[in-house]
Amino acid sequence: MSYFSISNVSKSYDNQTALHPFSLELEKGEFLAIVGESGSGKSTLLRIMAGLEVQDAGEVFLDDEPILNPKQKIVSGYDEIRLIHQNFHLYPNSTVAENLSRPLLHYEREYAKNRVEDLLRLLGLRDYRDRYPYQLSGGQKQKVAIGKALSVEPEIVLLDEPFSSLDSIQTQRLVSEMKDTFREMGTTVIFVTHDLDDALRLTDNLIILQNGKLVQKGSSKELCERP
Ligand code: ADP
Ligand code: ADP
Repeated sequence: MSYFSISNVSKSYDNQTALHPFSLELEKGEFLAIVGESGSGKSTLLRIMAGLEVQDAGEVFLDDEPILNPKQKIVSGYDEIRLIHQNFHLYPNSTVAENLSRPLLHYEREYAKNRVEDLLRLLGLRDYRDRYPYQLSGGQKQKVAIGKALSVEPEIVLLDEPFSSLDSIQTQRLVSEMKDTFREMGTTVIFVTHDLDDALRLTDNLIILQNGKLVQKGSSKELCERP
């Protein structure tokens, strides 16, 4: 029994193996980092977890139920597991508040309104609610992207290189704020990075991928203390 798991998942493109058979288990509320060099299979793994890519073999389970790929689903949208893209995917002609409420269009209006207020507060964006994305800093855009993913109260959030557009001071500040936000919501967080320091700072556990293979797995604390 585990909360979120992938079991013997593998993926090849043409003759190129992106992921060798791979298994992983996560607890609810866990923070996991996937670390590896460019081309090691991180994005492929994330997209499979998000149901945005079909694996060649193996299965992904949430609460011991196999997750269907969205292509097999009749309803569109995938609220339990949300991927936050590296380049934010904000709506350029919508304000911060509108961006946050966009995923909530099919929710009850009063609920959506309250949810957006909660998110603005959680992310410290109340003063920026009426700004457009081009009027925001990289860190603020990153927060709106995170807020958009959190609006539907997903169980699991997947982040692809979340700090790539930020300098190290901005990253440190955002990391500690995000950590609090996710903990407060009980969200399970998986993020991809090529930066081992970011991984060790933000997460409980990490895995290291090399050429599509899992080569290291452990708690961030253990790995930190290793000489
Ligand atoms: P990472 O995110 O760690 O940079 P990826 O998961 O993007 O790694 O890629 C892993 C391997 O799979 C790489 O060798 C890459 O070239 C290959 N790959 C990824 N996506 C595709 C695709 N759509 N078509 C062909 N090859 C791909
Ligand atoms: P408008 O704000 O003028 O109604 P949209 O918000 O529909 O326009 O989107 C404008 C552009 O922003 C689209 O072309 C789309 O590529 C991009 N975009 C914004 N958010 C997303 C998202 N979550 N997913 C995909 N594309 C997005």
